[in-house]
Amino acid sequence: MKQVRTRFAPSPTGFLHVGGIRTAVFAWLVARQANGQFILRLEDTDKKRETPGSDQHVMDSLKALGLEYDEGPDIGGPHAPYRQSERLPLYKDWARKLVDAGRAYGDPYTTAEVQAFREEAQAAKRPFLYRNHRPENPPAWDGSKPLRFKSDPKPYKWHDAILGGLSAGPEAIDDFILIKSDGYPTYNFAHIIDDNDMQLTHVIRGQEFTASVPNYLNLYEALGFTPPILATVPHILGPDGKHKLSKRDGAKDVLDYIRDGFLPEALINFIAGLGWNDGTEQEIFSRQELIDKFSLGRVQRGGAHFDERRLMWMDGVWIRSLPLEELLSRTKAFWPAEAGEATDGYKRQVLALVQERLKYLAELPELTRFFFVDLPVDPKLIDEHKQLKKLPASRLKELLEQARATLADSDFSIPDLTGRLNQLLQETGEKPATLFSLIRIATTQASASPGLADTLAVLGRNRSLVRLDQQLANLR
Ligand code: GLU
Repeated sequence: MKQVRTRFAPSPTGFLHVGGIRTAVFAWLVARQANGQFILRLEDTDKKRETPGSDQHVMDSLKALGLEYDEGPDIGGPHAPYRQSERLPLYKDWARKLVDAGRAYGDPYTTAEVQAFREEAQAAKRPFLYRNHRPENPPAWDGSKPLRFKSDPKPYKWHDAILGGLSAGPEAIDDFILIKSDGYPTYNFAHIIDDNDMQLTHVIRGQEFTASVPNYLNLYEALGFTPPILATVPHILGPDGKHKLSKRDGAKDVLDYIRDGFLPEALINFIAGLGWNDGTEQEIFSRQELIDKFSLGRVQRGGAHFDERRLMWMDGVWIRSLPLEELLSRTKAFWPAEAGEATDGYKRQVLALVQERLKYLAELPELTRFFFVDLPVDPKLIDEHKQLKKLPASRLKELLEQARATLADSDFSIPDLTGRLNQLLQETGEKPATLFSLIRIATTQASASPGLADTLAVLGRNRSLVRLDQQLANLR
């Protein structure tokens, strides 16, 4: 058996949103499962479309997700260089071989001439094909004109590891450009040379290349190469399930998700599930489970659905699954500024209370700020509260005074607080939704918080009583 070698071959022309990195996840899984190699190759042959920094961005994104590659532009490898713009001599060599074998020719036509051919075909209602206009005596190819493949039109049948059996007639085959007049190869040519040179066994890529596969098969033949396993992944559709996912659908850049504190475990789990499942109801997969269970044969053919709420749900599941200490070590960059002086011990206590509710780590400031700083009394919290707004200020004051008196005697342990809070319910005859909301608002200045007794225990006696007093002063 050949050593499995897969690749991710992005063009550094923009920022990778989560959908764009899915082919990398699939290729990485196929390689890891077979103890093979995963290669990063940058396809930077379209100099006009290149955006500065996007090559680094690709590498950073892969690393952030833990998709470590075995060979690549920044780490080298036996088939270096891994940037196509640095491999031009290799493409020229192969282009020469094709010219010498009579399988490539310099394109002699001007744009206007090609346009005339096109119109001619249109008028005659037949598809325009370059191969119907092959020059009789092409000029020697000196690099100033594009080099075209001299195709050998024929029907093809081939197997796609995801789509299954596919076929196309000879009309799908044409004389496409191998090398452009700027000296750079086209994707159509360069990827075939590189996949062969780098001994890649699988080509896993998007649907946009499927129509060109017959041309590629024709070129493999002309070059004497054995085609790799081809696998076409389905489109990722936006939330409406109709059009291809784009940034406008809120599909963010992988690094944006990392900056928002989504865990790499959850991101990989989510991305792998865009068009793949293992045939069971299981939704949460660890990295190792994905490696063990992934198979191209189970990638669905139809479009995959992108739903960011699902990602949030998964991230929450992953956050809850982390041991507290591990979660604490991952939250370093996410605490509110006000937590500056707080000890790890205190943060650990706070974290234990919000771990249940966190969907991503960047929510931490919003959920925990009040644990670190006394926030100003916000009258809206009472004025707009469903139950509390019905009570006159005198009653609110009465309730708060009673709560303060009862809590002042507490040792602020959870059992004691729980007992006293229940006692207050009985004494006041109020429902928890009224009484506990009032105490919660007074002590946190937030409309939601973890369990009241837990929250008060972490805040401690001093802070809790001072805040009750502040709220009372505000009511007067
Ligand atoms: N450079 C191509 C792209 O970014 C890669 C396609 C492939 O994987 O071969 O779309």
